Amino acid sequence: MKKYLIAGNWKMNFLKNETIQFAKELSSKLENRALEQVELLICAPFTNFHYLQNNLSDKWSFGAQNMHFADSGAYTGEVSPLMLMDAGCEYVILGHSERRQYFGEDNELLTKKINSALNHKLKPIFCIGETIEERNRNITFDILNQQLEVLKNVEPDLLSNITIAYEPVWAIGTGLTATTEQIAEVHSWINNYLQTNLSTSLKILYGGSMNAGNSAEILAIDNVSGGLIGGASLKVDQFMQIIDNAINLS
Ligand code: PEP
Repeated sequence: MKKYLIAGNWKMNFLKNETIQFAKELSSKLENRALEQVELLICAPFTNFHYLQNNLSDKWSFGAQNMHFADSGAYTGEVSPLMLMDAGCEYVILGHSERRQYFGEDNELLTKKINSALNHKLKPIFCIGETIEERNRNITFDILNQQLEVLKNVEPDLLSNITIAYEPVWAIGTGLTATTEQIAEVHSWINNYLQTNLSTSLKILYGGSMNAGNSAEILAIDNVSGGLIGGASLKVDQFMQIIDNAINLS
């Protein structure tokens, strides 16, 4: 039986009032749901943590969408792993394609961030995925291979605290979803990679336009341990349907 992780990535959305209203609505809809086999997580903007925590039940875990690798110091505008722990975070998304694309995050930086998160007992959700151009050139697995190199520089004992999110860049925020065959193929490849190169098995989430309508089919695929959900995690009904689909499949 799978224990699904359903993780919302709010990106740079929601002010105080929207956050409180969303949290209250979601909490009331979740009452009486059997959540033993489903872990619920919201990765919100830093400014919303407090409002979420005050208005969501303890069924929820919280996460950030980025962090600096240092504990403290002269890094204007950055947030450290210690601060995230202090603010009640359990998870941190690292290597999201938007961070790679707009902020130039590469393997060297991500190695520092992942190790720092792990040393502070934060659980990284490590995002990997190919662009459409890379898929069309048939180099998807070369790209994933390069991105996963980061994990070879992690203390083997700490690897089990990492969750992988396979997010084809062309499916993020576009309404295009990878087909079940594509997802099954890539997730199985990642699983083999982890076993062969790192002697481990990790949770592997799918991310990329997952929504109420396609989530049941995606979550049922072998080696899919949950979802990293952007747009649909900002809509209570959509997010609830994805959670319900995970409950029904678990
Ligand atoms: C994401 O940002 O990780 C994501 C998967 O976004 P969306 O669900 O909107 O495609």
